[in-house]
Amino acid sequence: MSENLLEVNHLFKYFPIHAGLFSRHVGDVQAVEDVSFAIKKGETLGLVGESGSGKTTTGRLLLRLIEATSGEVKFEGKDILKMSRTEMRHLRKEMQIIFQDPYASLNPRMTVGDIVGEPLTIHKLASGKDLEARVQELLRLVGLQPYHANRYPHEFSGGQRQRVGVARALAVDPKFIVADEPVSALDVSIQAQVVNLLQDLQQQLGLTYLFIAHDLSVVRHISTRVAVMYLGTIVEVADRDRLYDRPLHPYTQALLSAIPIPDPDLEARRKRIILMGDIPSPVNPPTGCRFHTRCPIAFDRCSVEVPKLKDYGNGHFAACHWVEEHGGQQPVIDQATPAAAP
Ligand code: SF4
Repeated sequence: MSENLLEVNHLFKYFPIHAGLFSRHVGDVQAVEDVSFAIKKGETLGLVGESGSGKTTTGRLLLRLIEATSGEVKFEGKDILKMSRTEMRHLRKEMQIIFQDPYASLNPRMTVGDIVGEPLTIHKLASGKDLEARVQELLRLVGLQPYHANRYPHEFSGGQRQRVGVARALAVDPKFIVADEPVSALDVSIQAQVVNLLQDLQQQLGLTYLFIAHDLSVVRHISTRVAVMYLGTIVEVADRDRLYDRPLHPYTQALLSAIPIPDPDLEARRKRIILMGDIPSPVNPPTGCRFHTRCPIAFDRCSVEVPKLKDYGNGHFAACHWVEEHGGQQPVIDQATPAAAP
């Protein structure tokens, strides 16, 4: 499991802002800033961060659902950002997406059979009896019944609707799936079922996932490696256990310190890192390290120089001047305050 299926190099996405009578270009939302990472065949890369961190934009850029400002997205070695419409149409079979809100992403006027079969019709992969048989096979694969094909999305629960979304994504036999907050809209009890389904399907079908989420517990469960985003940049990437056990970046430490612990004694004793202020605007992001306005250990260099994502061994990357100047040591953040009582 070492070969890269996908490689992202120096990806940028700026959304222009226009204002005034003549719609003058007055600035940009710098949504994704110099993002680079790779996803190996058969792995799940978890992408985490607060809302507004650029996770969803990054996921959509990989599939060219929105166009990048610059950079490279290589799928099996070919830069998809340079592909023509025809080449892209062929590639769409290989790369699919599962959306956050299973209700909003399913057309309420179509039967589940038509929804799941639509990609097969669009790509001219099946018709007639073959199409019907493939739809039934897909419904079974995701734990639904063949007779569900004749029903409409509103007749299903949230978890079942997400299963329909998964079946639709699998219809064209993709290699890579962007799962964009696929369980965030579901009840906690249903989340585990959908996550387990995604894991089973990965094993059965050899799928590769980019799993976008803000819930770090879910990401820990499903991911092989995890990348942490803050204000459009990747601040840390590492194997799942390494990242959760020994986070290097202060932002990752703050995110992890906020995960609730089920044991009340441990919860009462643990320290939480409270970040001051809100995530700054991506229209006018802070200079240097974008996290310096909220970082408890920021120092002079942080506000002037952009930290590079550096490898500190075993594929553990972090973008932090403090970590670099201390030879890859984990910062101990004194600002820690006792966790609030639940
Ligand atoms: Fe904090 Fe500076 Fe490291 Fe950014 S570079 S995370 S501001 S110590």
